[in-house]
Amino acid sequence: MEKIKLGISTCLLGETVRYDGRHKLDRFLTNTLGQYVEYVPVCPEVECGLGVPRESMHLEGNPDSPRLVTIRTKQDMTDRLVQWSWKRVADLEKEDLCGFIFKSDSPSSGMERVKVYNEKGMPVKRGVGMFARIFMEHFPLLPVEDEGRLHDPKLRDNFIERIFALKRWREVLTRKESRGNVVDFHTKHKLLILSHSPKHYQTMGKLVAKAKDLPLKELYQKYQTLLMESLYLKTSPKKNTNVIQHMIGFFKEQLSSDEKQELLEVIDHYRQEYIPLIVPITLIQHYVRKYDQPYLKEQVYLHPHPLELQLRNHV
Ligand code: SF4
Repeated sequence: MEKIKLGISTCLLGETVRYDGRHKLDRFLTNTLGQYVEYVPVCPEVECGLGVPRESMHLEGNPDSPRLVTIRTKQDMTDRLVQWSWKRVADLEKEDLCGFIFKSDSPSSGMERVKVYNEKGMPVKRGVGMFARIFMEHFPLLPVEDEGRLHDPKLRDNFIERIFALKRWREVLTRKESRGNVVDFHTKHKLLILSHSPKHYQTMGKLVAKAKDLPLKELYQKYQTLLMESLYLKTSPKKNTNVIQHMIGFFKEQLSSDEKQELLEVIDHYRQEYIPLIVPITLIQHYVRKYDQPYLKEQVYLHPHPLELQLRNHV
């Protein structure tokens, strides 16, 4: 797979673009995730023409439609940043991004819970950065996260799973449109979708089953929307246990009673959150290889992202 293109707030790459001339380098993003990703850096404040260093800014007013104002001299930068942001998101269309990683808490780049100050100077953490808001409005289905939230292992798993899935889907889009390609993609992603949302699993199954009754464009559009919606929903030990038990059904006749017993114990320990998901998954992978189970061998759920990212490794 070629590298995944992700937008990112420039300061997270270690570029000294912050108002104080510093950066906010995040080594997980550059050194670890960076091996699989080509970043497209975006610094709204510098790219809209403000220098480094510059006066710091914050959001003021109504948290749903705040103004971006410099803190000391009270210059209103809202219109400048908004106009630039609409142009920038139009440019980013060409980049074929699979997601964006924002700098948390920034009045320009923060994607949630950014401080907005009222007329008494009191903050509420309900704002969205000026550029981040426009980006998310323009690309509503693209996976987005901020570097702070990515320190949470569950959110990290979810985001990375989504960007890899979207990249695989984009590869389908590069091929000639055909119902067969959608069916093939769906077949390989069935268990991954089930681990996020049994409801979407059913809806998408029905969509694919009646693929030949739909115009191709509509099929592709509906499928993509449902795919991104489903993967946005979090997995849980209960949902994963359900998927793993479903997988055992494919080779339960071949398992010896010892093997079955061991597998059931491991699943139960995972369900009770004593061990991470990677443990039952590794055991299942072992049996899939040992008994050469053709359907499961193709399931993305068993290898949704590179092992080196050490995901599914938390309880
Ligand atoms: S938070 Fe956003 S605007 Fe601020 S320095 Fe980083 S990229 Fe630039």
